[in-house]
Amino acid sequence: MPRPTVLVVGAGIAGASTAWHLARSGRVHVVVLEKEKSGDCHSTGRSAAILRTAVEDAETHDLAKKSLAFYQNPPRGFSETPLYSARGVILAADATADADFQTWVNHPETSVGGKAISPQEAQALVAPLADGVTSAYLFPDEGTLDVSAVHQAFLMGAQKSGAKIHYETALTGILSSDGVFRGAQSSHGFFPAEHLVVAAGGWAGTLLDEEGFGLPLVAKRRHLLVTEPSPQVDQNWPVVWIAGKECYFRPESGGLLISACDEAEVLPDQGSTVDFTVLDLLAQKVQRWIPDFSSLGAAHYWAGMRTFSPDGRFVLGPDKRLQGLHWAAALGGHGVTCAPAIGQKVAADILASCFDLEKPEPIKSHHEGQPVIETEN
Ligand SMILES: Cc1cc2nc3c(=O)[nH]c(=O)nc-3n(C[C@H](O)[C@H](O)[C@H](O)COP(=O)(O)OP(=O)(O)OC[C@H]3O[C@@H](n4cnc5c(N)ncnc54)[C@H](O)[C@@H]3O)c2cc1C
Repeated sequence: MPRPTVLVVGAGIAGASTAWHLARSGRVHVVVLEKEKSGDCHSTGRSAAILRTAVEDAETHDLAKKSLAFYQNPPRGFSETPLYSARGVILAADATADADFQTWVNHPETSVGGKAISPQEAQALVAPLADGVTSAYLFPDEGTLDVSAVHQAFLMGAQKSGAKIHYETALTGILSSDGVFRGAQSSHGFFPAEHLVVAAGGWAGTLLDEEGFGLPLVAKRRHLLVTEPSPQVDQNWPVVWIAGKECYFRPESGGLLISACDEAEVLPDQGSTVDFTVLDLLAQKVQRWIPDFSSLGAAHYWAGMRTFSPDGRFVLGPDKRLQGLHWAAALGGHGVTCAPAIGQKVAADILASCFDLEKPEPIKSHHEGQPVIETEN
């Protein structure tokens, strides 16, 4: 039987991981189309690189735990560079967010490996943290990822296993007949294929609108600021995340990386456009939580988009509307953490549909109680 071809649209971390898992199976041809010169121009190259597994949704948590295991023990030869630093993550809340926070951070289905610590213990770990934390949990095995190393390892590993990556090649449409995907039109011609994986980040929702296979996804822009280097910053501090969309911060390049957890709905083409008015909000959060850092200048300030389904769950797996169409999309603020397990799940679904293999567990993806996509399994 000739090997089927799988087209992957998008060479961000979701497409890269999916391509890697598919290519190393040796059972399919893998072709990746990326509209930019490289795969790190959008969300993947703009994240805060935090690896955190305690999240509100149990299935996302499960994917994050599986991915943590991958990062801790990657396959031999995957990367020369360590993929992550277990500097620890402190999740904390103040009185306004505490009730909600407690329901998920303390729940066995959404939070494994955390240890309750007192506000004073949190301050002992990160001295400049202001008063006002009412509860805190430390996740000592979690921390920060070297996103570039992970991303490059997936792309180079996929290529070593035979995947072809076409940069500056945009998917512009798809061809289907009799309810079956047949191939894709691109800025560089037609690619016949049996399967298509949409891993197009902020563009995933509208990419196939014209063909009737759109999804109601929303891109939200968030800003990150890295301060100038300062001897006040201990580069071994854990990540601190104040729940309730308050703020988070961690050491970076001698300074502190800080987010005010701002989010504004944007069109994907504006996902990286910096809004300087967010600096006021950032200054307020710094004043509230780490006032000692209020006078530090900025070394870098940038924006990126996080893409969400209506209920915030990932959209992963086969789409029942069109045979051969698959999704690796709507990864919100957890895409770099969960990338290894996302790619594995999407690849396993494709391989199971081509060959007589066991299908992985379906992943829930709902829109107001209705499936966003009706998965086949
Ligand atoms: C400010 C910020 C902080 C974040 N912090 C974290 C964090 O700490 N931890 C965490 O786990 N996650 C975090 N995230 C989320 C994470 O970055 C994303 O979930 C992840 O990068 C999504 O990867 P992706 O491959 O789906 O999207 P992308 O990286 O955007 O890749 C999609 C690719 O598809 C390409 N594309 C689109 N349309 C087409 C087309 N028609 N043809 C060809 N190619 C196309 C694009 O050019 C792009 O390269 C953060 C995100 C932001 C913005």
